[in-house]
Amino acid sequence: MTFVEILSLIIVTTLAIIAIVKFAIKFDYVKWREYKDKRIKERIEELCTHTDLEPINGSVRVTSRFHKPPMSFVWVCGDCGITTSDLEYINKVSAYWGKNPDIWLKQVKKRARLVKKRRG
Ligand SMILES: [Zn+2]
Repeated sequence: MTFVEILSLIIVTTLAIIAIVKFAIKFDYVKWREYKDKRIKERIEELCTHTDLEPINGSVRVTSRFHKPPMSFVWVCGDCGITTSDLEYINKVSAYWGKNPDIWLKQVKKRARLVKKRRG
């Protein structure tokens, strides 16, 4: 082989390796991004309080985010979309957050950060 042949072989091999590595990185990044987005979406659902809290005269008023669509047998959270037919569960959730507004606020802030991250 001449020097020029060896040189062109090295260049062609290098270009091929760069192309493969670039493809691998891009492929992995897409997969990783999908996985991350899925995880964030799950966390956002998990962190939903299913309620609104409003401070009123040193106390808090809890409003449930669950509503019953017409012709439906289940209650749907207007925020995260989970469904339940258990009215007792809904009342329990509301009562819990009414007693723990500090944790409620922390969780709502945490969730808002994740929602921002998802859109960003
Ligand atoms: Zn919810």
